Amino acid sequence: MSQPLQVTVLGATGSIGLSTLDVIARHPQAYQVFALTGFSRVAELSQLCLQHRPQYAVVADEQAAQQLRASLAQSGSATQVLSGPDSLCEVAAASEVDVVMAAIVGAAGLKPTLAAVRAGKRVLLANKEALVMSGALFMRALKESKATLLPIDSEHNAIFQCLPANYAKGLESLGVRRILLTASGGPFRTLPAADLAKVTPEQACAHPNWAMGRKISVDSASMMNKGLELIEACWLFNARPSQVEVVIHPQSVIHSMVDYVDGSVLAQLGNPDMRTPIAHALAWPERIDSGVSALDLLRIGRLDFEAPDDARFPCLALARQAAEVCGTAPAMLNAANEVAVAAFLERRIRFTDIASIIDAVLTQESAIQVHCLDDVLAADAKARALAEHWLQHRTP
Ligand code: NAD
Ligand code: MG
Repeated sequence: MSQPLQVTVLGATGSIGLSTLDVIARHPQAYQVFALTGFSRVAELSQLCLQHRPQYAVVADEQAAQQLRASLAQSGSATQVLSGPDSLCEVAAASEVDVVMAAIVGAAGLKPTLAAVRAGKRVLLANKEALVMSGALFMRALKESKATLLPIDSEHNAIFQCLPANYAKGLESLGVRRILLTASGGPFRTLPAADLAKVTPEQACAHPNWAMGRKISVDSASMMNKGLELIEACWLFNARPSQVEVVIHPQSVIHSMVDYVDGSVLAQLGNPDMRTPIAHALAWPERIDSGVSALDLLRIGRLDFEAPDDARFPCLALARQAAEVCGTAPAMLNAANEVAVAAFLERRIRFTDIASIIDAVLTQESAIQVHCLDDVLAADAKARALAEHWLQHRTP
């Protein structure tokens, strides 16, 4: 029997990280945890280390590392504790590792995800922000290293399953007319425009179909999640923004579709549970049990579709614009959004200010071409500074 694959889970204490560990625990002969990383939730990470016995655990800083070491020492755990961003890259690229789940949220995941790609790993990409920020560089690193990239975002995993294996050739040559990216519409899908300014972080994080981390929950409520996913789809599937159409589908049963020139539309369906795409990507091209129950279409009864409303949810159009402009525009869009979402979660701004901040940042700072990672990081830093300026002065 073959050796179990060694897996590093970046962002193990998060929603995707925990779902990944749930799937892995169902297949102990096939997968072994090599490293787990968290940020500040030391008690949770300690529990996960005892359960999954990784060789390494990584936390934010030396103070958190000392806490984790103290907690693990009481249980006689052999896990070695490291800290800081460089250690994230080390456990992503270590020679022992076969598979890396990239599930850190936001720009913090960029360097470790790229490290996994450069080291030629099988990379399971949940951290869409990393690809949105560094698109062309990321895809070039992927080609050069022969790493395997498998999308975890349920929509992109669905599209991957609906495309032929040689999709990198370009969609036209495969007879693809367009990609239909589905969106639930989030918790405010039917809320009148006038009420959007009054919504709270709690309401924004109460997603109707998915239980997710707070940042992506707010992104789903503002439709920026779909905007980031549109950019993600362009890079992953070598598509132009105009080839990706967003369709609101409130039930979140169809995870996305591919429309071919002969009129065939292929869709992937399933219960809204991230363990399905995670199991798909872990085992690909084989299939394993994910723990997700069978889809009960009779109970679901109907599937609805609507057009997105750009007037109430301007973030999607802002992302589409950034995708068209390309260069550093997606990195700036992402950075401004991260600052704005954090401020909304801290109750410093209204929900509707998120789009205003992103718009102001993109209007003020022109995008430039990306030649190297420093160009991306500089654009990210500049956009964050402009967004912070907006927060302090309430104007661009
Ligand atoms: P989460 O907030 O639940 O978890 C985030 C993880 O990242 C945690 O383990 C946290 O410790 C770690 N982290 C946060 N800041 C960090 C930093 N500065 N340095 C190192 N680690 C840090 O988020 P999530 O919902 O699991 O989402 C993770 C990623 O997956 C996001 O990019 C999100 O867009 C994507 N994603 C999530 C879902 C979902 O259903 N949750 C679906 C599709 C895509
Ligand atoms: Mg998604």
